[in-house]
Amino acid sequence: MASLINVEELEIYKRQLLIKGFTIEVQQKLKKATVLIAGVGGLGSIVSLCLAGAGIGRLVLVDHDVINVSDLNRQFLFSYSDVGKPKVEVACRRLKSLNPFIKAIGLKLTIDERSMERVIDDFKVDVVIDCLDNIESRMILNKVVVKKEIPMVHGGVRGLKGEIMVIVPRKTPCLQCLLPQLTKGEKRREIPVIGPIVTIIGGLEALEAIKIISGVGSPLLNKLLRIDGRVLNVKVYGIARNPNCPVCASV
Ligand SMILES: [Zn+2]
Repeated sequence: MASLINVEELEIYKRQLLIKGFTIEVQQKLKKATVLIAGVGGLGSIVSLCLAGAGIGRLVLVDHDVINVSDLNRQFLFSYSDVGKPKVEVACRRLKSLNPFIKAIGLKLTIDERSMERVIDDFKVDVVIDCLDNIESRMILNKVVVKKEIPMVHGGVRGLKGEIMVIVPRKTPCLQCLLPQLTKGEKRREIPVIGPIVTIIGGLEALEAIKIISGVGSPLLNKLLRIDGRVLNVKVYGIARNPNCPVCASV
């Protein structure tokens, strides 16, 4: 599917190839990978910029929304002059200008089970990244990745707090295992949010995706990392699967 990396492209990755374990073969794995970025907001901006720069061969971006002025404090893919334009369109243009050697595909879709299953199948997605901002869509995505047995990196932010975990179906807890009380009822509302925390969590999500694809380092499995930016406290909690989880227990 993806072509070999030429000398011109390799120059982009020169500095990361100095990282221990980061060989040309690893770079080639990144080039062959397809990553689905669900949500092109604050988290999706950082994740997609990081992954485009790192040389992930194909990025599939899903978001149904257009750019609003109030997105600009954290959605760093976009400029003031982009307000009113579809996010996926502007995002793909920006990512291709950052790295013309990768593919960026934008899909103006609403997240539902059918649409996500289809995207995962059609594009042969290797890793899903949850860059969403509401629990309903997250749980839909969670259900689909468990069914398709695709790893997913979950990230979430609220105010000065953020969290991240990696879901590997059959091996680690899924979102439903951890958040049974949140599957119903939470109303959509504007979440308080600021750029720096989004950038930290988005950066960590991109890092975990690169680790899963490359095999370099150890992803955050069976652990939940929470950061409280107000006092800059970082905690990592051990987590376990719920044996009665309605989503992953039977998988
Ligand atoms: Zn579960």
